[in-house]
Amino acid sequence: MTSITTIIEDIAEEMRGVSERGAVADYIPPLACVDPAKFGMAVIEADGQVHTVGDANEAFSIQSVSKIFGFTLALDLLGDDLWQRVRQEPSGSAFNSIVQLESELGIPRNPFINAGAIVVSDVLVSHYGVEGAQQKILDLVRPLVSDKSGITIDRNVALQEKETGFRNAALANYMRNFGNIHNLVPDTLDLYFHQCALTMNCQQLAETGTYLMTGGRNPMTGQAVISPRNARTIMALMMMCGHYDGSGAFAIRVGLPGKSGVGGGILAIAPGIASVAVWSPGLNRHGNSLLGTRALERLVQRTGWSVFNAHHPS
Ligand code: GLU
Repeated sequence: MTSITTIIEDIAEEMRGVSERGAVADYIPPLACVDPAKFGMAVIEADGQVHTVGDANEAFSIQSVSKIFGFTLALDLLGDDLWQRVRQEPSGSAFNSIVQLESELGIPRNPFINAGAIVVSDVLVSHYGVEGAQQKILDLVRPLVSDKSGITIDRNVALQEKETGFRNAALANYMRNFGNIHNLVPDTLDLYFHQCALTMNCQQLAETGTYLMTGGRNPMTGQAVISPRNARTIMALMMMCGHYDGSGAFAIRVGLPGKSGVGGGILAIAPGIASVAVWSPGLNRHGNSLLGTRALERLVQRTGWSVFNAHHPS
């Protein structure tokens, strides 16, 4: 059988030859100035083997991939009560859409669109405060990663998110009007923007996903991070909603629960098999990494890791 290292090296080689790479997010300078030629990929297998290629050790802004971590903490805190504040359904709308909030009385469709992640931030601010919740997010991810250097919240990115985040402010204010934001809007947004500004590299991002791969445990320590039921819930929502209004196409092409960010990162989980992170800054029209998606599609074609395969790969 071809080794995973060989497979991802082949994929990186193929991606180097692709000229149409999508458009880099340009709403803030730290994202706009990232080189679109960057490409990195990291795979952590269930037995602990690590495979990396390309720019897998270069830090980038993981943006909305971080919605997984906020959601993990809020689900752990509130359990099924969380569903009174945010629903469990795909939105079929853009990541920053406001329209459904009117007919759904300020309850977002899911925790992975911006409105849903802002509610999740609000839950965390209620329990931990703004600074405390940032620390909780770091405390969740850092123990999962072998080399923790460079895992930070980029204060400059957070500040620029805040200075340009009028749409997110509109979402938060609108939900507050319905009573679904319990803290001061600037405080809730402060946490949301700092969460978006989480920075790490592909290898570290793939390592953070290992608690989902194992069904809730940190594979390095054996300790429970979340319950197996919550791990399944998070991955189900990643499959249905992790790529905004491109989630259906991602499920068909890749067949793994995944979460994208406008920084060009994607974290995808093959349950029980592998945790995979890919980074290519150019985005498709839904705000998901163009080559990142293609690279994951190739990986799954070569490994048979789609969760929809009739036969479990050996
Ligand atoms: N900071 C971006 C926003 O809040 C994140 C969007 C994304 O990564 O998809 O709009």
